[in-house]
Amino acid sequence: MTVTVRFAPSPTGHIHIGNTRTALFNWLYAKKLNGRFILRFDDTDAERSRQEYADGIARDLAWLGIEPDQTVAQSGRFEHYDAAAEKLKAAGLLYPSYETPEELERRRKIRLSRRLPPVYGREALKLTDAEKSALEAEGRRPHWRFLLPNFADDPFVTSRTEVQWDDVVRGPQTVDLASMSDPVLIRADGTYLYTLPSVVDDIDLGVTHVIRGDDHVTNTGAQIALFRALGAEPPAFGHHNLLTTVSGEGLSKRTGALSVASLRDAGIEPMAVASLAVLIGTSENVAAASSMEELAALFDPTSTSKSAAKFDPAELSGLSRHLIQVMTFDDVQDRLAVLGIAGDEAEAFWLAVRGNLEAVAEAADWWSIVRAKPAQDAVLSEEDRIFVREAGKHLPQEPWDAETWRVWTAAVKAGTGRKGRGLFMPLRIALTGREQGPELAGLLPLLGREETLARLS
Ligand code: GLU
Repeated sequence: MTVTVRFAPSPTGHIHIGNTRTALFNWLYAKKLNGRFILRFDDTDAERSRQEYADGIARDLAWLGIEPDQTVAQSGRFEHYDAAAEKLKAAGLLYPSYETPEELERRRKIRLSRRLPPVYGREALKLTDAEKSALEAEGRRPHWRFLLPNFADDPFVTSRTEVQWDDVVRGPQTVDLASMSDPVLIRADGTYLYTLPSVVDDIDLGVTHVIRGDDHVTNTGAQIALFRALGAEPPAFGHHNLLTTVSGEGLSKRTGALSVASLRDAGIEPMAVASLAVLIGTSENVAAASSMEELAALFDPTSTSKSAAKFDPAELSGLSRHLIQVMTFDDVQDRLAVLGIAGDEAEAFWLAVRGNLEAVAEAADWWSIVRAKPAQDAVLSEEDRIFVREAGKHLPQEPWDAETWRVWTAAVKAGTGRKGRGLFMPLRIALTGREQGPELAGLLPLLGREETLARLS
């Protein structure tokens, strides 16, 4: 059977680095096994879901290099959820309950005071048809609970019922269904909670592996029971640890903190984001992989640690810089063209500047500095001005190459007696207008003799 995974965000905000971890665990898992990747929008909550967020998520995934084989939205599949709900109702596995949140809370407290586990006591199952009609006549609408299979004959006498699975990430897992309340699948207003639609989709779309955050481990126990209740064999499950901020707070889609879009706007390389999102909180060293193939080779879900991992955005800049330093012209050609950097000299230019960039987009500044006499951000003293004019007299004849800078500055040193910073800084400022930047040995041949002379005089 073809390995089929899915990434199932709700489009209620921008995806952040933690969501990216889930997406990439699925993507790399599928990639390693020649599988399929489904992007599923969990948008049953019409109030909070927005098309613009769904579009943003697709765009962020594409930027990271994730191209779904199929995209589905839950909002278009209600008939399937309704059919599954009817099937469960007919089998007596989905039952109406009428308690208000206050009533439930009161009962919970009573159970706790009697040292009973604070799970729902299935009181609604005892209601007669007449009692239900009376409640409905009062204007109450039921919510619907899934009857967990944690009893032999009598649902009021539960016993330890272990659901076990061999987690793709965490190894063997056990959840006791008797420790859980029957989950609500349908709210009183008729809307679905996430639990049932997710299972119905996983069945219909042939999902073979559900890989998600470890905040879903308990859900998995109930969902495995739900797969079986719907007559399907459950898929394999994997639960990875979650990421937190450096101070230990959870990440939220709604705050936009550490969103993929904000990292992209800051000029961080996608493979830097992908590498950190995947390798952090594993026994693997965090290093920048330059391609998905390379990252897939490093990816081993079983080496993921069980505790939450702290994510430090400062690490991203370092990884990103490192990737830019080794990026070939081929890798970056299209992106440079968008910045207006093209033509015969584009490759030599890229190789000259890449070691000095925080972001690829910064290449545009250096391109204009090479192309046109730059505004002087840094100013030369009168003495230095005389020195650079003098240095111009020592410029070698063309053709120029990577050696020219060394030859020239050796001649300037011999001719003027200047050396070190006193020699190089005025030349750098005169040629680029800045005190810092890429190696001048690489830039000089791009300027050419005539332009260099003009900048020195
Ligand atoms: N929409 C759910 C979430 O974002 C999906 C969980 C799952 O992968 O099953 O938590």
